[in-house]
Amino acid sequence: MVRGLITYSLVDGVPDVKDTGPSHRPEHLETSMATTSFVRGPWTPLELTAPLDGLLHGSAGTLTSLDPATGEVVATVSEASTADADAAVAAARHAFETSRWRNDGALRARVLHRWTESMRAASGRLAELLTREQGKTLGQAHGEVAGAINMIDYNAGQARALYGRSLALSPTAHGVVLREPVGVVAAITPWNYPLNLTIRAVAPALAAGNAVVVKPASLTPAIVVAALHLLAADPELPEGILTAVAGPGSSVGDRLVTHPDVDMIAFTGDSVTGIRIMKRAADDLKKVSLELGGKSPNVVFADAPWDKALAGAANAVFSAAGQICTAGSRLLVAESIAERFVAELAERTTAMRVGDGLDPSVAMGPLVSAGQLRTVLEYVDIAKADGTVLVGGERLTSDGLADGNFVAPTIVTDLDPSSRLLSEEVFGPVLAVQTFADEDEAIALANSTSFGLAAGLWTADVDRAWRVGRAIRSGTIWINTYHHFYAEMEVGGFGQSGLGRQQGVEGLLEFTETKHLNFDHAPTLF
Ligand code: NAP
Repeated sequence: MVRGLITYSLVDGVPDVKDTGPSHRPEHLETSMATTSFVRGPWTPLELTAPLDGLLHGSAGTLTSLDPATGEVVATVSEASTADADAAVAAARHAFETSRWRNDGALRARVLHRWTESMRAASGRLAELLTREQGKTLGQAHGEVAGAINMIDYNAGQARALYGRSLALSPTAHGVVLREPVGVVAAITPWNYPLNLTIRAVAPALAAGNAVVVKPASLTPAIVVAALHLLAADPELPEGILTAVAGPGSSVGDRLVTHPDVDMIAFTGDSVTGIRIMKRAADDLKKVSLELGGKSPNVVFADAPWDKALAGAANAVFSAAGQICTAGSRLLVAESIAERFVAELAERTTAMRVGDGLDPSVAMGPLVSAGQLRTVLEYVDIAKADGTVLVGGERLTSDGLADGNFVAPTIVTDLDPSSRLLSEEVFGPVLAVQTFADEDEAIALANSTSFGLAAGLWTADVDRAWRVGRAIRSGTIWINTYHHFYAEMEVGGFGQSGLGRQQGVEGLLEFTETKHLNFDHAPTLF
């Protein structure tokens, strides 16, 4: 029996949705101008206070999450000090060394399967909390929750299938290669897909038998803590196997990165932070997995399926207000169709409804914070200086948006090739358009940044899809689609987009070490 579930109350009225399938695809953007009689429901701020079934270590005050659409308080979460981080690591180390968790795949599978059930039961409330804390539309939030559940479900199955290998090495010698957990894993995660990207690390790390300490982003700790609490309340989860500390990355996060009892850092976030973490973790040669930023090209050839490519280009960059690491923020379009394609894309973009993510008619919500709004507006200024802003290019404050961090979806053309807008990650709804004359130029432009996280290709020619897909250096290539993720399929980056892979079998194996047990039954050896 799972006890506890969510022990705080969320406002009723949001229907629970079923898991919508294997992908955690962001909802395709609607381009509706429809007005509604939407009224925002009341909200009582959540108080997530340590210890929450032994999950949370936090004695340094509270972190407050603000709703990016209104500025209202959404939740408070106990804030950790570096001493709390030490205590969380000590609990994790003790649990890893003394409990049966690392040697009992069936136990891990049972516990993780029950987590999917408790997440499903709470999915409507989790989605509302996610929208209120992070800002994305409720449809996208439901998609993120469903994707997280699917990720746990996949890894729960894998917990019972972590096979090694064996080989007869000679008539008397035999080798057995085992997969063992790494030990104590610190999962440090970002705010843009806070639930998915935390669970994407936590679920395989636990399935592989590790103990995990989670450090969520300071802007979105409540959704992470709420979801983890559903697992922490499971009576069969050994105390200490899952702990969490919410607090500043520069102190609490850094403490985890440098702690001698942490064996591995699973980090998702900015490339600059990732590089710093790798340097800091090098002092005691910690294992690191880094899922970092991107500047992904979305390449539209002249024979692209027109309507699908148009919808895909908008979805690629404006979904979740562009705050996706894989955002298709560079549209590369064949010269012969560029004028018409970009004009139709501009028309769609202008028609997009921007507003409160809880409003069902809204296609794009706010940016996560006032700081992120400032950053994106700085890039808009660069766009104005270096190119032509075709649509958008401004903060939105009318029609009840003044208290939120809203920016208009923006398309920029005619950019100077040296513009920072073509090489730096904006992490906002800003699309840079470039054109190409032929396939070679398309590939050269696609590969022209230091990133290599994802790319999209739109063409009816399967031979071209194969050629170009092979030539672009990036961890994921979507062909005639975009932003589809599957628990079964690996993701990760080339170049400055990261190290290692998450999801799928390789994502699970990241959280293991191999050990060779060698037997020789010859009567004498030497
Ligand atoms: P971020 O600033 O790098 O923060 C990510 C996490 O690291 C947060 O929990 C943060 O804590 C913590 N942190 C910050 N400085 C740290 C330090 N010195 N030591 C240890 N931890 C530290 O990234 P973000 O702004 O949250 O997320 C946006 C970035 O993530 C974008 O660049 C995006 O492309 C990338 N991203 C990549 C993927 C992928 O799969 N490749 C997925 C999603 C996002 P605080 O919140 O307290 O600062």
